[in-house]
Amino acid sequence: MAFTEKTRGLYSEILTGLQTAGLFKQERFIHSAQAADIEVEYPTGAPLKKVINICANNYLGMSSHPEVVKAAHDGLDSHGYGMSSVRFICGTQDIHRTLESMVTQFLGTEDTILFPSCLDANGGVFEAVLTKDDVMISDRLVHASIIDGIRLCSAMHDTFKHSDMEHLEEKLQLHSDKRLKMVITDGVFSMDGDTAKLDKMVELCEKYNALLFVDDSHASGFIGKTGRGTHEKYGVMGEIDIITTTFGKGLGGASGGCVSGRRELVEMCRQKARPYLFSNTIAPPVVAGVIKVLEILSASTDRRDKLEHNTEFWRKGLIDAGLIIKSGDTPIVPVMLFNAKLAQDVSRDLYEEGIYAIGFFFPVVSQGQARIRTQISAGHEIHHLEKALDAFKKVGKKYDILGKSKQEIIERYGM
Ligand SMILES: *Cc1c(COP(=O)(O)O)cnc(C)c1O
Repeated sequence: MAFTEKTRGLYSEILTGLQTAGLFKQERFIHSAQAADIEVEYPTGAPLKKVINICANNYLGMSSHPEVVKAAHDGLDSHGYGMSSVRFICGTQDIHRTLESMVTQFLGTEDTILFPSCLDANGGVFEAVLTKDDVMISDRLVHASIIDGIRLCSAMHDTFKHSDMEHLEEKLQLHSDKRLKMVITDGVFSMDGDTAKLDKMVELCEKYNALLFVDDSHASGFIGKTGRGTHEKYGVMGEIDIITTTFGKGLGGASGGCVSGRRELVEMCRQKARPYLFSNTIAPPVVAGVIKVLEILSASTDRRDKLEHNTEFWRKGLIDAGLIIKSGDTPIVPVMLFNAKLAQDVSRDLYEEGIYAIGFFFPVVSQGQARIRTQISAGHEIHHLEKALDAFKKVGKKYDILGKSKQEIIERYGM
């Protein structure tokens, strides 16, 4: 073995460095199903603690919804456990095609192709549809998996300042000589919970003859009046050329993703996208689960309506308590603490109070922008949210941050 003591030492040093810098990610073990109430082992070896989860992407409470679990069981019985193949060899079942049609219908697009994950969809789509004669113009805050996909594509890459439409227009003018221009954005941005201005972006893309790409992972199932996504919220359904999304958040929480949009672009992915061609697709029980999720969401808007109601209650509660939150109307609600250590301390104390919410700080967000990102779910009842608000008030009082301005918090705790 060439893994010498010296090699081991090299890696140990890097890992210790992460710990010293406070950047080491320590996982917490959940012993129950994903839901509003969970049982957590933390620190490792500690007795199990019942806590309320307010940091999952389980927006619609589908992760352990009884009908979804049953549909997955039934799918397991009827279609087996796995495919042992990629789609184009012998890995396509009837239910894969059914799910693709249902997603197309739900998102209001022309066609859909499944991927093992949305990370894979983003990793494969650009390379499949663009060449070195083209340009990709992305918002500066797009998801990491989009950045990876962009790196794998030979088209030129440029960026525009976050949600800055004037800057985007400048970039569209600058690259007018390219064969194809693709504007790339998230629908809902995961760290701030703000939404891309899709109405304005559609307008600009029409004016400058560009394609529009939207990753709607934090929106599919609940943003917009019937939960179709950010394009529904902005009244531009049918006008987005490519939508990518995940089944790992609002749409069930298990796994899988897709590219949905113009027929020819989807077909290009089927022919050329490497994660589609060279990785197993979504397992049958998961496909059956997502089909059930879409059936439930298409039949009634109850769950997204409840989520909207919960979100309003939560945002108002935090503001009334005197905490600083990022404004908006999505269920991603960041409580701003600015200082990294303060965010970690508040997260730890909330946990003591039975509330599970994680602190985010540099490099996940910019320096001086540390926060606790809370995420609301239709799986929460008002009593969960009341208990969480009480905990935020108690901990906020301890650190004397209630009713304090950003300036006051920074003066006391530093950036
Ligand atoms: C979560 C997320 C992904 C990754 O989704 P997976 O299906 O878990 O790979 C991609 N893009 C965005 C914007 C996300 O939030």
